[in-house]
Amino acid sequence: MEPLYEIEVTCPCCESPFPTSRVRSSFKRAIAVDTDFCGYYKDGANADFYVVRVCPECGFASTENSTRHLRPDQKQAYYQAIGNEWKSRSYAGSRTREQAIACYKLALMTAQAIGEKERLVAGLLHHIAWLHRYGGEAEQERRFMKFALDAYQSVFEHEHVDNDAKLMYLIGELYRRLDDRKEAVRWFSRVVHDNSIMDAGMIQASRRQWQLIREQSNEMPEWAMAAGDGSSSELGFR
Ligand SMILES: [Zn+2]
Repeated sequence: MEPLYEIEVTCPCCESPFPTSRVRSSFKRAIAVDTDFCGYYKDGANADFYVVRVCPECGFASTENSTRHLRPDQKQAYYQAIGNEWKSRSYAGSRTREQAIACYKLALMTAQAIGEKERLVAGLLHHIAWLHRYGGEAEQERRFMKFALDAYQSVFEHEHVDNDAKLMYLIGELYRRLDDRKEAVRWFSRVVHDNSIMDAGMIQASRRQWQLIREQSNEMPEWAMAAGDGSSSELGFR
C-alpha cells in the first residue's frame, strides 16, 4: 500500500476545490522523535510534509487548524501580499523536503498576511526548523528555531494559558538547543516546580533536559546550582 492518499479540500480564500495528499495513519508511526518533538519516518511517509495545503488557483496556503472563514479584509490583505502575484502551481502528489519547505513558507506568509493565530505561526516556524534539520542545514535550522522560540514566548505571554506545560517545556528546550542554558533551566525549573502543572510527561521531560544541562556544564555555574536545589524562589518564580 502506498503511504500517500489524496483528499479534496476547498480553498478558504477563493473557494475552489483542489486535491492534496496525506499520509495514511498506518504509516504515521515515527521511528525516532527528537526532544523538541521533531519526528523521523520511513522514506516518503513524513506526515508533516503534507500539513500545508496550497491552493493552485490563488496560492492561499493553510492547514487543518487555520482560520476557515476569512473576512473580506483578510482576503484583501492576502491578495495584496501574495495572491495577486501568484502563478498557478500545484503541490498535489508527493513532496520533496524542498517542496515541503516551500509549502510551509507559503503558509507562513499567508498566515502573516491575514493575521493568523500566533500559536499557528509558531508551529509553522518550528516545522520549518525541523525540515532544515532533516537536511543538515544547521544555520537555517537555528534561524527558524529562534523565530519559533520568539513566537512561542509571545503565545505564552499573550494567550494567558495557565499550566501549559508543553509550551513551557518547548520554550526551555528551544533555548537549550540555541545554547542559552540559563534561560533553558529557568523554563524547565518552572515546569518542575509549578505545583499546578499535572502533565507528568512534560515534568519528566523537563527534569531530564535540566539534568542533561547539568551534566554538560563542566563547572557548575551558580545559577544551575540555585535551580537544582529544589528552591525556585531565587529564579523569580513564586
Ligand atoms: Zn484559492
